[in-house]
Order: sequence, then C-alpha cells, then structure tokens
Amino acid sequence: MSELSNDLILFNELVEVLLNEEENHPVAKRIDSNILYDTIDLSLNKSAMVDDSFKKVLKEVLISTPKTATNLFFNQLFGGRQSKAVLGDLLAVLLNNSMYTYKVAGPQVGIEQEIIRQSCDLIGYGSQSNGTFPTGGSMSNYMALIMARDAKDPSCRENGMTKPLIMYTSKASHYSNAKNASFAGLGRNNVRYIKADSTGKMIPADLEKQIKIDIENNLVPTFVNVTAGTTVLGAFDPIDEVATITEKYNIWLHVDGAYCGSVIFSDAKRHLLKGMEKSDSFSYNAHKMIGTPMTCSLILVKDKKHLHDSFSNDADYLYQTDGDDFNLGKTSFQCGRRNDALKFWTLWKSIGTNGIEKIVDNQFDLADVARNYIENHPDYTTYSYEDSISVCFNYKNIDPKVLCTLLYEHQVTVVGFGDFNEDTFVRFVTINATNTKEDILNFFKVLENFVEENQHVLETAAC
Ligand SMILES: *Cc1c(COP(=O)(O)O)cnc(C)c1O
Repeated sequence: MSELSNDLILFNELVEVLLNEEENHPVAKRIDSNILYDTIDLSLNKSAMVDDSFKKVLKEVLISTPKTATNLFFNQLFGGRQSKAVLGDLLAVLLNNSMYTYKVAGPQVGIEQEIIRQSCDLIGYGSQSNGTFPTGGSMSNYMALIMARDAKDPSCRENGMTKPLIMYTSKASHYSNAKNASFAGLGRNNVRYIKADSTGKMIPADLEKQIKIDIENNLVPTFVNVTAGTTVLGAFDPIDEVATITEKYNIWLHVDGAYCGSVIFSDAKRHLLKGMEKSDSFSYNAHKMIGTPMTCSLILVKDKKHLHDSFSNDADYLYQTDGDDFNLGKTSFQCGRRNDALKFWTLWKSIGTNGIEKIVDNQFDLADVARNYIENHPDYTTYSYEDSISVCFNYKNIDPKVLCTLLYEHQVTVVGFGDFNEDTFVRFVTINATNTKEDILNFFKVLENFVEENQHVLETAAC
C-alpha cells in the first residue's frame, strides 16, 4: 500500500475523532496561551517520530484546536462546514495545481472562469467583465484600489504616483482600507472616512460634500469603497445613491461584499445591492456566507481591461502555451496561486444555484429567529437592524467584553463583541447555514444559564 493510502486511512481515523469531539464537546478544550508549549508537544526535533506518538500528538492538536464548524461557534464571519466544499478542497490539495497557466491547471481554469462568469452575470456586469480569486477580502479590496489608482493615474505603473489621489470609505468599513491606502502609495491620511447613519450605512450627502472639498483643494478623488455587510453591524451601504455620485465625478466605485456580497444569489435579498451593476468592481468571500473552507474570495471587474492593465506582466519562462484567457496568471497578484475555485465549484455543482440561494436565505431566517427572541425578552437590548445577519445585543446590562471573554474561557460558547458609535455589544453572527432554529435558541439558553450560574464571577470580573 502506498504511503498516501496509509495516510488517508489515518486521516479518516482522525476525522472520526474530530467529528466525535465536535458532537460531544462543541467548544474545544481551551489551552491557556501561557502554558501552550508546556501542554502539547509542538517541538520539531532532529529525529523522526514513531507512528504511534505521531498519531497521539495529531489527536491532541485536533482536540484542542478551536472548533469553527459546531453549533456553538459564532465568533467570526464564517462558520459551519459545507461537506461538498470540503471534498473539493481536499481534491485541490491532492491535485496541487497552480492557477497561473492552462498548461499546469487545465480544466481547473475553466472551473474558475465558470464561477467568475456566473457571478458577473448575477451582478449584471455584462460581456467585458471578468475577475480572479485573490487570497481574501483584504486582497480583493487592495486589487480594486490598485486598478482605480492606475485608471486615474496611468503613468503610475512606470513612474510611481504623480497625482494626490484620495479614497473614500465609511467609518464603519473594514480596516483593510486603511492598510491598502498605505500599501498602494496613497497614504493613510488620504483616506476620507465618510459618516454612517444610525443604522451603520454610509451617508451619500457627506460623501459628496467631502469630494467637493478635495476637488477645491486640487486633490484627485479616485476611489470610493462601499460595503455590502459592514463588519460589525452587517449594514449595506446605499450603492445606487453612491453610484450617482461616483458617475458624476468619474470616480472608481468598489463594492466590498466580503461579508454579505453573496446576497447576489438571493432573489429575496438582492435588492440590498441595488445599483451594484453600476460599480466598477465587486468582491465577495465564499468562505463567509457560502461556507466554503477558508479562503475563497472573488474580485470581479466590469471591464477586464483594468485587471490586465494593472496585473499582467510578461514572463517567457511561464507563459508558453495557450491564450491569455486561459493563462490566469495574467490577471492575478500572485505568481503561484492556490486553487480556491474547486471547493466552491464542487458545492455549487452539487446543490445548484438554488442550493446556494437557500444557504444565503437561511442565514437571514436564522437572524430573524435571533432578533425575534431578543426583542421579545426584556433582559436584552438590541443594537442591530433588519436585513443583517449580525445580531447585536446586550444582556442584563452585563459588560459584553467580560461576558464574551468568560464564555470563551469557560468553554461555553465562542462569540465576540463589537462597537458602533458609543455602544459596545455582543455580536452574534448567524452565518453558519448548517445551524437550525433550535441551535440559535440554544445559544441564548446556554448564555442565560451561564449568567445565572456565574453571577459572582461576572460581578468580580466587572469591578
Ligand atoms: C472579512 C471582511 C474583509 C476581509 O476579508 P479577509 O478575507 O478576511 O481578508 C473585508 N471587508 C469586509 C466587509 C469583511 O467583512
């Protein structure tokens, strides 16, 4: 039997261990970071390890690694496990292609392009559109900014920036915008943070006001980022109204849909993205709402010319066969690039576009269950709004930072806190579409029981 066949037997054994653990202990046995290296043997040594000890340490690592697929993990903007997508990702690891050329990736190129084409159609981008799979949402935003910069200041590619370029994003947008401004050479001080209304949406009038001020000061408005699903509140910026402004002043419009751009799949919720076809670029993370393994992010552009202009480079040692449309390295940031498309494709292929729509819709249904619950229980205060899958709340005036930290330390449930304006609250995210209504209600029961049984701990921690 080959070494791989043997290792796959071990793999299946470990999968059983993990699935059992997830069933019996949905929150992983937590190791305090202070004693991590004393608790599991993570050391790399000169000599080989015998099979039994190797298996033992692998089990320990599995058991104590935070479990993101269970019904008590609500901490971040991903969760759950879509089995068909896991299957695709395991196959991608075995195949080990690199997505830069048709020569090396073959049909995988077509798989990636099919996802991109269908996504562009859902946005309404038209025949000149295309896209690529960057390393994540931060990188998608970065690539959008680079394309906007190069479109506004084309000689930049050869000579560096020659104009004082300015970008705009809401106060509630993702922090990658600030980092990207620095990487792209605009500088962090040239990011204008536009006010958000009380529900977390960008205020278009404030955007236009700021653009006018910059133009008066001989600065060059270049890039507007709107967010489809802000990181804390899950709010949708008004794309259509912002597009009217970006069209008027000839500014690149990017939709950061890392969190909730997947509502392009939902007939019921697509209206939240009204005007999206007017944008120049659009990104979404299939590893968030759609539940593929990390990472699976798409950047889509209305006019593929910009992708080529900003990212293609000649490389004779690499591009030796086939046309540019099949050599995807011509439009990517990286050289060697992991196959992030296959896991999305296996899921999509097996359940159909209607199946993806159900995944997305279920998250909104679960959020309604959660919002309904807290709105009908007087011990809760709500901080989030309809059409958001981030359900933000406080319970009995307990400090949310203390509460979330204790829930984690006591291995009860994993959930985080966030702030908006003056408020800090628990941010409960219903992004795991494999959860049921009962799982959502169970979360509240688990939380309430914990508070009930730990009054004294909570009081001590709060002082
Ligand atoms: C998660 C997120 C990002 C970053 O995506 P990564 O894949 O984690 O880099 C960007 N924008 C928004 C709105 C997000 O929610």
